[in-house]
This record gives sequence, C-alpha cells and structure tokens, in this order.
Amino acid sequence: MVERKRDDGKDTRVEYLMRRVPAEEVSINPVVPELVKKAERDGVKLVWHRFLAQQPQCGFGLLGICCRNCNMGPCRIDPFGYGPDRGTCGATADTIVARNLIRMTAGGAAAHSDHGREVALVFKMMAEGKAPGYRITDIEKLKAVASRYGIKVEDRKPEEIAKDLADIILNDFGKQDEEPIKTLEAYAPEVRKRVWTRLGVMPRSIDREIVEIMHRTHIGVEAIPQN
Ligand code: SF4
Repeated sequence: MVERKRDDGKDTRVEYLMRRVPAEEVSINPVVPELVKKAERDGVKLVWHRFLAQQPQCGFGLLGICCRNCNMGPCRIDPFGYGPDRGTCGATADTIVARNLIRMTAGGAAAHSDHGREVALVFKMMAEGKAPGYRITDIEKLKAVASRYGIKVEDRKPEEIAKDLADIILNDFGKQDEEPIKTLEAYAPEVRKRVWTRLGVMPRSIDREIVEIMHRTHIGVEAIPQN
C-alpha cells in the first residue's frame, strides 16, 4: 500500500475508509469495481471519492441560482423567498438559471467543436500536401461524405474533393451569414431541422453561436430567460 500523509500528518487512508465507494455500484463496466478497489487499497482518490468528499454539495449551485457572471456578484437567489429575489443587476432566478444552463452548453459546444476544428485543419493540410503523416485511405468514404455537402465528386482527384470539403467545414466555424451551417444540413435529421427552424435556433456558425451565448448572457444584455 502506498503510504500517504497529508500536510498535517494525518494518514489519508483513514479518509478513504470513511469514504468507501460502493465499488460494485459505480459503473456497469465490469472492470471498474476492480479498479476502484485497487485505488482504495493504494490510497488513490478517483472521481467517485472526490464526489463523495464534496457532499453535501452547494444547494444554490445545484439549483443553478448562483451567478458569477460579472464582478458585481457573486449573487444568489433565496429559493425560499426570505432573502434576495434578484441579483445585483436585476436578474431573477429564472434568468440566472437560464444563463447558467446555456453557458454550460456553450462550454461543451466549444470543447467538442474545437476538437473538430483541429481535425478539419489537419484534413485541409493533408489535402494540400502539407501533412505528410496523413493520407486518404478510403476514397469511397470521402466521396460519400463530400456528396452529402453537395460537392462534385465525379472525375475529380481525391485531394481536390478533400480540399473543397475542408473549406466548407472550416467555413462552418466562422461564417458570418444567417444560413445554417453546412454540416448541420448534411447530417442533422430532417425532423430535428424542422424543430430547430420553428424555434429559431438553427446554428449559423459554430463560433458565432458560442460567442453570442457568452455575450447575451452577460450582465446588461439579455434578461428574458426564454430567449
Ligand atoms: S450578472 Fe447579475 S446576477 Fe450575475 S453576478 Fe453580475 S450582477 Fe450578479
């Protein structure tokens, strides 16, 4: 067993014994319980231990009614009606919850889309012959994907098709017009596109939507939670 002492000299294994994770219950993956048990034997904290150590979690945070979006905060709303019912800027609980929710969504979209951006950039370098470690291995797949984007594939070199495809995809990140992004048109289910259109939330550009979310949820901009 790994010997671990905290700065105050306390043996952290005592903490683990106090916060034993029910190893068989934390995951449907049969490998995980063994790993949890080994971690506890070795005195290693995993996500489940850290989660237990956070209990009880902040009630304001769980309800989403704490806001740190500007330096007049942090502000929090009293869910029981005895304390403040608005943030310093006037934001209600609904506004704060909506802002927090969509900012989390924007953060997730930023993380995933930026992975995609790197792939698209490497793909373009490959198409231009600037990434010698990469090559097209499945030309039929390339043509199938390009066709979804409306790119002409007949009688063209794979690299030409790939370059057009990379340009369209990279344009989806930063274009400034109001048209939906091409990747969405190419891959989103028709019924979903109709729902998004009806609600007026068809994404026009990956980066732009994230920026608009961050902008409109800041102090002094959008205050109507439905928006
Ligand atoms: S945006 Fe409003 S509710 Fe949020 S911290 Fe600033 S003043 Fe408080």
